[in-house]
Amino acid sequence: MEQLATKAQSVWKKLQEKKPVIISGPCSAETELQVLETVIRLAKTGKVDMIRAGIWKPRTKPGNFEGVGAEGLPWLEKAREITGLPFAVEVATARHVEESLAHGVDILWIGARTTVNPFSIQEVADALKGVDIPVLVKNPINPDLDLWIGGIERMQKAGLTQLGVIHRGFSNYGNTEFRNAPMWHLPIELKRRLPELPIICDPSHICGKRDGLLEISQKAIDLDYDGLMLESHIDPDKAWSDAKQQVTPEALAELLDKIVWRHESTHKQEFLNALAAFREQINQIDDEVLTLLGNRMKVSEKIGLYKKENNITILQTNRWNEILEKSVAKGEKLGLTKDFILKLLDAVHLESINRQNRVMNRHEI
Ligand code: PEP
Ligand code: MN
Repeated sequence: MEQLATKAQSVWKKLQEKKPVIISGPCSAETELQVLETVIRLAKTGKVDMIRAGIWKPRTKPGNFEGVGAEGLPWLEKAREITGLPFAVEVATARHVEESLAHGVDILWIGARTTVNPFSIQEVADALKGVDIPVLVKNPINPDLDLWIGGIERMQKAGLTQLGVIHRGFSNYGNTEFRNAPMWHLPIELKRRLPELPIICDPSHICGKRDGLLEISQKAIDLDYDGLMLESHIDPDKAWSDAKQQVTPEALAELLDKIVWRHESTHKQEFLNALAAFREQINQIDDEVLTLLGNRMKVSEKIGLYKKENNITILQTNRWNEILEKSVAKGEKLGLTKDFILKLLDAVHLESINRQNRVMNRHEI
């Protein structure tokens, strides 16, 4: 048992040292045989650090397979005994926590549907008081960074010190490219605010299908994530949950082989010098862009005053359309995407309206 605890600690250490940790296993534990075969085949690849398997499954609609429950925990213990691989399960209630701890689970994760509900995540945090086990908090289903951070804070307040996060994308309406849109700016901002927390990407729940798993995994590694959680199944098409997004252990190994693993930094002087020179260029350009934007806003204020004198509305839709058309055409010629130009112009236009509003409606006391 002590050896097993050490194994989990070494995975945690690897996470903290920012070496990519690979967590894989089925979406759901289905039968003892399925769990054992998956884990043995994953262990054989030599590329997996930890096993995952859903025991209690939060499904969107009733009537679907909702997990085997605590009955599946001994299967995971057996798989760990055979392969030496530690395992992680999802917990959503105090009872899940109790049962998982009773079976010596190495790492717990909180699912997206639990992070979204402060009562639920608080219940889990309370059940974990006094237990120092690593916990990974998935993002909530909706793109609310504060709610995600709030979930982490609830764990911290319960005294947990080995915390990390899992980015699994955000729910969206309609048929889009992803099952859950990655919205990379949210995890990037989370990393900025909480730089100490290891961050793992879950491409399986982002993609919802096998296509794109490699692309999303590579993007996460390029963004300096600390690990990946990818679902795998011995017979993916027959999986009892999330069949479309699972891959066989062997396909997982192939996928991992295709990833180009990056380092956060290097000591190579030549690279560092070149990077410093490019960064200096970027700093100067940013400086010029900001100065120009400042000047542009001053002109907006002058226009505001002029409109005020003549009682003219701030918003001039024709003029706004003209700017959009002209700028998109010019931007595209410069290699900028239409999406980026529109977002940028939108922000500039809004700021400009605010500035005009301020000068036009200033009431001198
Ligand atoms: C899962 O990991 O199988 C799962 C239910 O994920 P999420 O909480 O991201 O939907
Ligand atoms: Mn799943």
